[in-house]
Amino acid sequence: MIMPEVGPEGQQRLNEARVLCIGTGGLGSPAALYLAAAGIGTLGLVDFDDVDLSNLQRQILHGTKDVGRKKLESARDRLRDVNPNVAIQLHEARFTSQNAREIVSGYDVVVDGSDNFPTRYLSNDVCVFAKKPNVYGSVFRFDGQTTVFAPHLGGPCYRCLFPEPPPPGSVPNCAQAGVLGVLPGIVGTIQANEAIKLILGVGESLVGRLLYFDALKMKFREFKLRRDPRCPVCGDSPTITEPIDYDQFCGVASTTAIPTVSVRDLKQKLEAREDFQLVDVREPFEHELASIDSAKLIPLGELPDRLKELDRERLTIVHCHSGQRSAQAVRIMRDAGFAKVFNLEGGIARWSDEIDSDVPQY
Ligand SMILES: [Zn+2]
Repeated sequence: MIMPEVGPEGQQRLNEARVLCIGTGGLGSPAALYLAAAGIGTLGLVDFDDVDLSNLQRQILHGTKDVGRKKLESARDRLRDVNPNVAIQLHEARFTSQNAREIVSGYDVVVDGSDNFPTRYLSNDVCVFAKKPNVYGSVFRFDGQTTVFAPHLGGPCYRCLFPEPPPPGSVPNCAQAGVLGVLPGIVGTIQANEAIKLILGVGESLVGRLLYFDALKMKFREFKLRRDPRCPVCGDSPTITEPIDYDQFCGVASTTAIPTVSVRDLKQKLEAREDFQLVDVREPFEHELASIDSAKLIPLGELPDRLKELDRERLTIVHCHSGQRSAQAVRIMRDAGFAKVFNLEGGIARWSDEIDSDVPQY
C-alpha cells in the first residue's frame, strides 16, 4: 500500500480481483502463493491430481505430509495459512471442453500453469472467447517461457504462434523430460507478477512479448509477438468459435484405443513364467535409473530400425515411464505386423507404485 503505484486503491483492486490458476503444480505453486500473499480476493484453482513425492522438488505448495492427498485440498490449506482472507474456490476436475467456459467465466484473469497441450489450447481458446487475459508459462528442463495472451488488449494468442498442436507423443512432459525445480518457481513468479500488474493497471505487461529464460546461461531474451490475422481463434475470420474436444485433437484420447495390460497382469505373467517379450522404449539413462527385470531396452526413436530384434508372433508387452511413448510404440509395432502387442498401463511409474517399491520413482 505504501507504493504510490498501488496505494490503498490498488490494494482494494486486488481484493476485488478474481484470478483462476489452472494447475497447482510447478507453475501454479509459486503463482498461487504470491497471489494469495498479495491479497487477491478470490483465487480459483483447477486440478484433479494427488500430491506425488517425486514432484515436490518443484510443487512447493505441497509438502511431504501431503503426499497422497488431493492437490486441491493441500493447496487450499497452505494458501489459507498464507492469507486466511482469500476466498479460495476449488474446481476439482480435468479442464475440458465441457466445463472450461463456465469455469473461466467466473474470473478476471487466468494463469495457465498447465503442463499439457490439450489444456493449453483449451485455456487459450476459452480466454480469447471470453476476452480475458491468459498469463502463459511453460518450462522444459532448463528453459522457461512466459507471456500474456490477450488479443483484446492488442497482442496475439497462443494459436497465433502455434496454430496446431505437435503430433501426439512427440513432446515429452515434465515427468518424462525432467525440469529444474527452481525454473517453474521463476516462471510462475513472473506469471503472478503479470497477473498483479494487469489487475492494478500499472507498468508494461508481457502482452505482445515472449520472455524466454535460459537457467543454465542465466539469460533472459525477449521476442516480439504479433497477432496473426489468419489465426483460427483470434484472427479476422475465425474458424474455431467453440471449445473443441482437445483430447482427440491432440491425440491423447487415441491412446485409449491401444490394447493395454495392467501392472498386475504383468506381475502374474512374470510369476507364471508365461512366454512373452517385454520391451522398454525409454531412453538408456532412464533404464539405468529404474527397470523391470527381463525388459529389453529399445528406445522409441530406434524402434523402427530394430524391430527385427523382436518376434512378431510372440506376445509383446511394451512399457515406458507412464504409458504415452509406449502407446506410440504399440502403434508402430501393430503397423509393422505385430499381432499381439500390448501397452503397459501407467508404465514403470505405476509398476513402482503398485507392485515393486524397490524400483525407484523418478
Ligand atoms: Zn490468435
